Amino acid sequence: MATPEASAARVPILRHLERLVDSARDLTDGDPAPVGPGERDGCGAAICTVDGHIYGAGDVDVEFAIQSISKAFTYALALSDRGMDFVDQRINVEPSGEAFNEISLDGDPGRPANPLVNIGAIAADWCVSGDRFPRILEFYERLAGRSLSMSEEIYRAEGEGSARNRALAWLLTSAGVIEGHPEEALDAYLRQCSILVTATDLAIMGATLANRGVQPVTGDRVMSEAVAERVLSVMATCGMYDDAGAWMIRVGLPAKSGVGGGIVAAASGQLGIGTYGPPLDAHGNSVRGTEMCAQLSHDFDLHFARVHRPHHSTIRRIVDLSPEARLVELQGDLAFLGIEAALQAVLTAAQDRPAVIVDMTRVHHIVHHAEDLLPQVADRLAETGHRLLVVGGDSQLGEATVCRDLDEAVALLRD
Ligand code: GLN
Repeated sequence: MATPEASAARVPILRHLERLVDSARDLTDGDPAPVGPGERDGCGAAICTVDGHIYGAGDVDVEFAIQSISKAFTYALALSDRGMDFVDQRINVEPSGEAFNEISLDGDPGRPANPLVNIGAIAADWCVSGDRFPRILEFYERLAGRSLSMSEEIYRAEGEGSARNRALAWLLTSAGVIEGHPEEALDAYLRQCSILVTATDLAIMGATLANRGVQPVTGDRVMSEAVAERVLSVMATCGMYDDAGAWMIRVGLPAKSGVGGGIVAAASGQLGIGTYGPPLDAHGNSVRGTEMCAQLSHDFDLHFARVHRPHHSTIRRIVDLSPEARLVELQGDLAFLGIEAALQAVLTAAQDRPAVIVDMTRVHHIVHHAEDLLPQVADRLAETGHRLLVVGGDSQLGEATVCRDLDEAVALLRD
């Protein structure tokens, strides 16, 4: 009998992502932004759990310009450097309902409506202490957990097309939002937009927000809980420009898009999502990315308006019943993280024992998508000569043997 790899627990989730990416790749709407590499056919989706497990499919290692997604993270750095009060006096937190490059100042003489439209983003850059751009780059690197580079070509193009951003920067000075010359803050903004990231980077950066400011792979506390919460809140209301309302109804997650084709989204306490797909809709949001985020939110039940009971204790206990069989008892609501942990537990059990019994008697609710994952694990185990017995599941579990109760499962193994 062959031993299944613990990493095989990843396979059903990876397959799910692959299907999702393949169908998003068929979408032909939208046009890539003129600036940046933006190959039309690029498409990829990655997720990173708050435990630091990363899954990706499609073009998840392709680098593209972070563009406006950067605004959320520079805002986090500005808040960390200067504190909420200092930043709030200069940048409001209200959705503008306008395009990203709108000349929007609230009140008289006015503050930018929020830090995720250009005028607010340039103000956030101004708020960053010290040597702005190197500090911003270093901050993004801690979020991504790797060193990042800036595309000189994109930076040059951004500079050439920066008349409007330059006007916004000077407007900040004239309205007294920022003091002194705005050019350095503007330059930091144009440079930060030109930093290259991948969908995997975005998933990890999003997971850091979802994990209350701690980067889940490196364990580095990149920002305080309060800052992470603030950034997610502003992303929820202002992250998708003038499409924020429709996005919230459809996807139900705080998110930020960029014209480089990326989207970062975060499900608090669960995971970060990073997607890549250059063609953009009329709002400047990735067509394929929007579709993939909507699909993931649906399949993994991530929409904020759906209430779950806590899912951290999905595994009630793991017991070795005999040298031949291990029991994995699940409980509660199996949301995405719970399913992921359960799959890992089952596959790990199968490395040591020829039979695994999964007791689902105490499971109340399984997210839509998991109904498909468990039978796949059963089929995989059958391929390596293992038996999977499920107590209290439904009768459609692929190669798994469904039992009424634990006694029946134990008796079956004895036969
Ligand atoms: N660099 C772009 C700009 O400021 C960013 C736009 C975006 O991603 N929405 O115009």
